[in-house]
Amino acid sequence: MKPCNIFQLQRLSVNDGEGIRTTVFFKGCALRCQWCANPESWSFDPQVMFFPHKCTGCGNCLTACRHDANVRNSKGEINFVSANCVDCGACRGVCPADARQEMGEGMTIAEVIAQLKKDYIFYQESGGGVTFSGGEPFLHPEYLRQLNEACHRIGINTAVESCAYFDFEACRDIVESIDQIFFDIKIMDSARHKQYTGVDNSRILANIEAASKINNNIIIRVPVITGVNDSTENMLALSKFLLEKTTITRVELLPYHELGLEKMTALGLPAVVFETPSEAKMEELKQLLREQGIEIISFR
Ligand code: SF4
Ligand code: SF4
Repeated sequence: MKPCNIFQLQRLSVNDGEGIRTTVFFKGCALRCQWCANPESWSFDPQVMFFPHKCTGCGNCLTACRHDANVRNSKGEINFVSANCVDCGACRGVCPADARQEMGEGMTIAEVIAQLKKDYIFYQESGGGVTFSGGEPFLHPEYLRQLNEACHRIGINTAVESCAYFDFEACRDIVESIDQIFFDIKIMDSARHKQYTGVDNSRILANIEAASKINNNIIIRVPVITGVNDSTENMLALSKFLLEKTTITRVELLPYHELGLEKMTALGLPAVVFETPSEAKMEELKQLLREQGIEIISFR
C-alpha cells in the first residue's frame, strides 16, 4: 500500500469523539467551504505555507525561489504568490525564521499505527481511539480501509469525520465497519450549498441517507455561521431530512470560528470573514432542533 499524504497527527484530542483520541488529518477534499478551518487539507499534495508574522524580511527565499513565487512589496515585506509555487521546498531550507512550513507528508499505514500505539493506554482508559479527519478520508478508500482494519486488529476504536462527498459504493464496507461517523451537513438548500462550498448537496444527502442504513452510530455536525445557515428554515429542513430519510437523531452544532483565516492567507488564498453566532442564538437553534425530536450532543 502506497503512503498517503497526512498533514497532522494530533495526539490527546478530546473534541473528535469519545474519550482521548488521536486525530489523523488526511490531505485532499472535494469541497471548498469558504469558512474552512483546515484549508491546508484541500490539496492532495504537500504544500508550502508562508506565515508573514514570522518573516524577518531577510530575503533568502527571494534568492532561493526559481519560480517567482516570492516578491518584496513596496513596503519591503515579502508576499507569497502561491499560484507560482511548485512546492520545490528550496525556500524552507533557507528560511531562518520558520516562516515557511511544509504541510503534508507521505505516511505508510505502519507509520501511522506506530504513532497510535504510543497512546494506546489512554484510549483504553478513556474509551477513546483514533479519529480519521481531513480533508476527506473517504477519498482514500483503500488506504482508509486497510488503516481501519489494522486499528481494529489491535483493538483501537475508530471514528471518521467526513463531509460525506465521496463515492459511496467504493466505501460501503468501510462505512459499515468504522465504529463512529461524524458527517457534516452545512446547508440544506442545494443552490446555497454550492454557492458557499463549491458543490451542491445532493450527493452528500444521498450518502448520509445510505450510510444510516448500515451504520447506527452516526452524528451530524453543523458548523453554524451567521447569515449562512443559522435560519429557522435551514434547521427545520435539517431535522425533517434526518427524521424522514435517515435513522440519525443526534446532531452537534458548532459555532463558526476564525481559526482558518490565518491559514488561508498563508496559502495565498482569499480569506473571507464570517460572523460567529452568539451563545443565545446557538441555544435557540439547539432548542428548535430538540422540539423536532433531535438529540443535541456535544464533545466540547
Ligand atoms: S517551495 Fe514554492 S515558494 Fe518555495 S522556493 Fe519552491 S517554488 Fe518558490
Ligand atoms: S527566508 Fe524566511 S524570513 Fe527570510 S524573507 Fe523569506 S520567509 Fe522571510
